[in-house]
Amino acid sequence: MSKLDFLNNEIQALKEQGLFINIRTIESAVGAWIQVDGKRVLNLCTNNYLGFANHPKLKEAAKKAIDEYGVGPAAVRSIAGTQTLHRQLERKLAAFKGVEDTISVQSGLLANQAVIPTITTADDVIFSDELNHASIIDGTRLSKAKVVRYKHNDVADLEAKIKSEPAARNRLIITDGVFSMDGDVAPMKEIVEVAEKYNALTMADDAHGEGVLGRAGRGIADHFGLHGRVDIEIGTLSKAFGVVGGYIAGKKAIVDFLRQRARPFLFSSAVTPADIAACIAAVDILAESGELVEKLWANTKYFKDKMKALGFDLGQSVTPITPVMIGDTEKARALSQKLFENNVFAMAIGFPTVPKGKERLRIMISATHSTEDLDFAVKAFEKVGKEVEVI
Ligand SMILES: *Cc1c(COP(=O)(O)O)cnc(C)c1O
Repeated sequence: MSKLDFLNNEIQALKEQGLFINIRTIESAVGAWIQVDGKRVLNLCTNNYLGFANHPKLKEAAKKAIDEYGVGPAAVRSIAGTQTLHRQLERKLAAFKGVEDTISVQSGLLANQAVIPTITTADDVIFSDELNHASIIDGTRLSKAKVVRYKHNDVADLEAKIKSEPAARNRLIITDGVFSMDGDVAPMKEIVEVAEKYNALTMADDAHGEGVLGRAGRGIADHFGLHGRVDIEIGTLSKAFGVVGGYIAGKKAIVDFLRQRARPFLFSSAVTPADIAACIAAVDILAESGELVEKLWANTKYFKDKMKALGFDLGQSVTPITPVMIGDTEKARALSQKLFENNVFAMAIGFPTVPKGKERLRIMISATHSTEDLDFAVKAFEKVGKEVEVI
């Protein structure tokens, strides 16, 4: 008997149910091809949409920043951790997105924790899409507001819930911009229209939309022409931007208040100069040209068309996130394993990340993939899909 048996039993149960995650170690920089377990494999798993994770301009900016500013700020942002670079990034992001201001924090997850509990009180009601990302759910749990979940992307249900839930102060509607497991997009225009009708605040967590949707990756508000009408946009610097960090973009009053009260900003140290400088270089590249974003979308169309023609079910995706729906834990794992044997790296995703019965492989298309790379992937899927009997 050990004090930790309760955990050992849980781990054993995960293994028995086939839910224990085998975490692969990547032995190289992140690109179209990576090294895993000593093997060179085509990378279909990372959020490196634009190839920024190993981009020469970002690496150069990071190295230069280390020489000029050192490796760490050694303080939280509000005490002594705001360096010139931090403000420069925030201003550049604001100009790029066409918003009044932005505030950057250590991650997208923390951006949700920075904003949701900080701008809500017990007198508010939060309306949250039932498929919102875990970090939104955590943010709402830290809030004293009442949380009402509405049906996924269902604006009629949202409106019905708003009507039946009076708030003493504010109503706040929160949705993912792009839903990370299915690749579908929130009906942001309709959500904003309902919000305006009831004077509610709107917030889109656009972690998978920044650098992907809109002109040159300016995000979901730009994609739908909703400038100034989405009150809060959350972005991450760790997906398309290729580095690490998160930010909140919106009206000056919101950002000003977060600088005074957001706990990740006040109580956790600032992101390093190298990271920030790399992010600035990424914004500069996108501000100059939409070429990489166009390549990403062309690759997405190419890959999806070929996979559909083979008979694969790609779910509801309208973005580079490409779920290959399998609906069975064992089959999804077998498919992933056999793809790996054929030098294709595509992880199976199961419960609790997606509901039971919705097991899948999630393919992430990148601008770094060449046409030959995508053909290589499709060929492997065809071979292995037949072996596992999913096509
Ligand atoms: C990935 C993701 C996050 C977390 O971003 P990090 O920068 O990795 O912490 C937050 N929200 C959504 C919707 C995401 O997909």
